[in-house]
Formats: sequence, C-alpha cells, structure tokens
Amino acid sequence: MTSIVVLGSTNMDLVAYVAKAPGRGETVTGRDFRTVPGGKGANQAVAAARAGAEVSIIGAVGADDFGLRLRAALEHSGVDTDLLRTVEGPSGTAHIVVDDEGGNAIVVIPGANGTVTSLTHGDEALIATADALLLQLELPLAVVAEGARAARERGVRTVLTPAPARALPTELLSVTDLLVPNEHEAAALTGHTDPLAAARSLLDDVPEVVVTLGAAGCLYAARGADPVTVPTPRVRAVDTTAAGDTFVGALAVALAEGRPAPEALAWASAAAALSVQREGASTSMPYRTEIDAAAA
Ligand code: ADP
Repeated sequence: MTSIVVLGSTNMDLVAYVAKAPGRGETVTGRDFRTVPGGKGANQAVAAARAGAEVSIIGAVGADDFGLRLRAALEHSGVDTDLLRTVEGPSGTAHIVVDDEGGNAIVVIPGANGTVTSLTHGDEALIATADALLLQLELPLAVVAEGARAARERGVRTVLTPAPARALPTELLSVTDLLVPNEHEAAALTGHTDPLAAARSLLDDVPEVVVTLGAAGCLYAARGADPVTVPTPRVRAVDTTAAGDTFVGALAVALAEGRPAPEALAWASAAAALSVQREGASTSMPYRTEIDAAAA
C-alpha cells in the first residue's frame, strides 16, 4: 500500500455564523456555532487516507479537550497518530466568522503546532519509509524545512502547499519536489497575477508546480515540458472549504502509485470536485471508490 507522511498542523476550527461580521467594539448575535476538526496538515492527511493510502501525521495537539477530539478524528479517518505529540497548553485553533454572503474572517492561533520545532529520530525513521511527505506552512518554517531535507536525503518525494502565503526561504524550495499553490499563493510568491507566468517563474526554484485555479481546474508545469491546463469537473459548489487540501491529498496518493501526472491530476480534480459539492472540510472528503467512479 502507498505510504504518505504528513508533517503538519492540527487545529480545531471554531466557526461562528452571523448575518454580518461585527466591526471593532461592536457585539452582534450570531446564528450558529460549530467546532470542526481542521488544520491544513490534518485535512491533507484525511484526504490522502480516504484516497486509499496508509497515512501518518507528525505534529502536535494540546493537552486539552480539543487535543483529544483532534486525535480521535484523525484516528477515525484511519490516520496513524503515533507521532502526533500531546504537549502542555492549548491545541491550535482557528476562529472563523462566516457571514451571510459567504465571506469569512479568520484568526489562527498556532498553540501546540508552534511547539513542533524539530524532528525526532522516530520522525525521521518514519519519513524514510514514506512514498511522499506532505508539508504546509502552519508549523514553524524551520521544522518544515528540516522535514523536507530529511525526505530529500532519503529519496522521498516532497509536496509543499505554500499556505498560508508567505515568503519561502531558498533552503526550503531547494528540497521541494512539487509545489502546489492556489492562484493567490502563486501570485504572492512571485508577484505575477497570471498563473502561467507565476508557474514559469516558480520553475526556477522547484522542478514541478501545480497552480490550482478553483472551478477553472489547475495548471501543471514541469521543467522541460510545456505547461498544461487540467480542467476540473463542472459541479454545483456548496462549500469549497478544504478543496485545495482534498486535491493535494489525492494527488500525492496518485503520484506515489506511479500514475502519470495528467492522470493523477484528473483524479485529484475529481476528488476535489466531489468535496466542494458537500458541506464541511474533512467531512466532505471523498473515499477512493467515489473518486474512481467520478474520474471514470
Ligand atoms: P484552495 O482551496 O486551496 O483555495 P482551489 O480553490 O484552487 O484551492 O481549489 C483546489 C481544486 O479544487 C481545484 O484545482 C479544483 O480541482 C477543485 N475545485 C475548487 N473549486 C471548484 C469548483 N467550484 N468546481 C469544481 N472543482 C473545484
């Protein structure tokens, strides 16, 4: 079975639904409240597990109720949490206000995620067994770079989602095999709002780039080949939360299985298009049989 390791964040999403978000000093009465397990690392882990891989996550939760729930949610999805530390203090949280126009405002407090500052020997040994290592930017940058370096040294493919958007050190890019920004992150990284120009410029730093383009699909660029646009199925989207994480999780699985890039991208697009037709983040992620049926 394909083996994927995720070095990444776990957060409890605290979501308040309100007609109009409050301004400074204002108090408003909201309509609904939900706590939903999230964090880009955990979301990609669940996506990859449902897509059919054996998945482990390296990261940390706090010694609080959220930590227990985050760990249980991952295990329920079949993600191995043996190397998910439990540390003193609060779990990571994302405080999200969603208004009636679907707009949102988010405060992320890293909590336990911020304590993951270096890898253990156990982490490195696990990474060595993987077909791919998935990374995002919700853990301290130094440990993300350390993980990518450890994977590269052992010939394990590194897949980096550069979110939340920030400048990337060369030492991280130099050990990234596949970079998967959305179009906003690609623009933030390169200064090019045109995805094709952004992808071309990113090829100076990494050998392969996929820029995701929402309902317009994605753009795949690799050194020495012409960039191609891969369409995504036309569907009625009800909630695009974690579409990108679903896409990356499924893409990593398909590539690790040795499927050629165009086929892997079409399969990942089918997975992400399924997820946007349902409410929620990890709860909306499709299982392998559903992806196979949608991609057929
Ligand atoms: P992110 O969630 O990181 O912002 P995107 O919005 O680019 O990323 O979406 C990631 C992928 O999810 C896209 O490349 C596409 O395959 C799929 N997707 C997103 N929105 C839609 C949509 N409205 N219809 C169909 N597929 C979608």
